[in-house]
Amino acid sequence: MLPGSALEFLDWEWSRVESHYRGLRSRNLSVATIAAWLADWSHLKELIEEGQSRLYVAKTLDTADPQHEQRYLSYLEEIYTPAEEQDQRLKQKLLASGLEPEGFAIPLRNLRAQAELYRDANLPLLEQEKKLGSEYDRILGAQTVEWEGEEITIDRLFLELEGPDRGQRERAWRLGRTRQLHDRGALNDLWVRFLDLRSELARNAGLAEYRSYRWRQLLRFDYTPDDCRRFHEAIETVVVPAARRVIDRRVRALGIPSMRPWDASADKYGREPLRPFVAVQELINKGSAIFHHVDPVLGGYFDSMLPENLLDLDNRKGKAPGGYNEPLAAARLPFIFMNAVGTAEDVETLLHEAGHAFHVFESAALPYYPQLQVPMEFAEVASMSMELLASPFLTADQGGYYSDVEAARARIDHLERILWFWPSMAVGDAFQHWVYENPAAARDPDNCDQTYADLVGRFTPFIDWSDLGAELRAGWQRVLHFFQVPFYYVEYGMAQLAAVQIWKNALEDQAGAVRRYRSALALGYTIPLPELYAAAGARFAFDATTLGEAVALIESTVERLEQRV
Ligand SMILES: [Zn+2]
Repeated sequence: MLPGSALEFLDWEWSRVESHYRGLRSRNLSVATIAAWLADWSHLKELIEEGQSRLYVAKTLDTADPQHEQRYLSYLEEIYTPAEEQDQRLKQKLLASGLEPEGFAIPLRNLRAQAELYRDANLPLLEQEKKLGSEYDRILGAQTVEWEGEEITIDRLFLELEGPDRGQRERAWRLGRTRQLHDRGALNDLWVRFLDLRSELARNAGLAEYRSYRWRQLLRFDYTPDDCRRFHEAIETVVVPAARRVIDRRVRALGIPSMRPWDASADKYGREPLRPFVAVQELINKGSAIFHHVDPVLGGYFDSMLPENLLDLDNRKGKAPGGYNEPLAAARLPFIFMNAVGTAEDVETLLHEAGHAFHVFESAALPYYPQLQVPMEFAEVASMSMELLASPFLTADQGGYYSDVEAARARIDHLERILWFWPSMAVGDAFQHWVYENPAAARDPDNCDQTYADLVGRFTPFIDWSDLGAELRAGWQRVLHFFQVPFYYVEYGMAQLAAVQIWKNALEDQAGAVRRYRSALALGYTIPLPELYAAAGARFAFDATTLGEAVALIESTVERLEQRV
């Protein structure tokens, strides 16, 4: 018998797991037996996934204790990776049966692609890739600086960039970037190891280059590298000029000659940063009020999380940086991790991660685990839409965090950041296309430096990098995606565009737009990506027209909100 909960499962030895796989392999598949067989395999898979999730959560909650990291790594080695090998045999069995269970067309398409890509020889390489990823984390995690007599992380230091004192901002920025430049050698070495490993992955799979491998690995059926290139061009045409208008307004308001890198996060009227809440309980209570305004069912989901220990939101010593939502696959529940310190960004992070959490709740009724494997291109629609759907309810009279003036300010910041995001996404995506189109050249980090600097110049020409050549050129080393999750970047740009469309729908019909949003979330990944977008009320299109409509809505909203601040 399989245990009902992953906590129990974590005590299992591989031999017990393996015997379940053996059992699944020996069963007969027919129209009559397929549903039960899939359900059993799904449950086993969910336990294995949730085991990984729980160990991941544990290690990010307490990075000081090396046992958590050790436990996580040995789980990968002893359970997770061997299980993937077993899954492969079950996938082949399922595919060979020719059976197509209901609601399983998309998972079968994905399984077919995965089976075609799978090679035994790549399993240790994929594990090695994860370990290189941990090395990247370790290098960046050790980057601390001494600031005002205290040793702090670069993340903490860069909070100074939001402050009103320009000299202080510049000192903080330069200190942090100088510290980061110390690790250039180590990161260059790591980079080449990543690239060589990825070429080998592709070669083993019979593919000439890594991008083709990664495209298949990421199950990108509905768009091509050429579509990404056209998206970059549309961004250059439509968004870059709008982002420049935002920057020009900031430069004028700040009374500075040009926008230096340390000015980008500063408040343009020189105000102190917003402080929307003090205690984490306040973050939670006000968040709850806002979600109830968006939709009572979503509010109820959120309210159920704290009593179930599914929220760990406060910043504590020893916690890993950042924020995430981790689905607990067997329990069909989400877990939100954050490092809240009281900023406006924390509020945005909560809204975002709650969007992911709502996705887990809405899709929980789907019977089979593979139906829950929602692609990033749509997963981020759930989260980014929630940031915008929640935005009308941020004020205290709705139970939210802000006065009218503060809410207008927070929303302007958010909307302007969306405008900046597309160009910086285009930099990150175009950089990676260059890397894997030119794998030999990209092994020389000097070439990466030059390409990155050129792309920053193309998509964000409004930032003044004079005399900051070294910092500009090394900027790609700070982007963890390039190291840990290649090509996982454009998804955010696509999802952001859908989120603005869904927000636009909500401005016309709040209840209807949220209804469509929720029903699309409930579909998991049972229909193709463009249809998921359509179900949620958005076009799966990344041309200058679609983008132009989104940019126009953002700019006109910012203009209206500016009159309130
Ligand atoms: Zn997200």
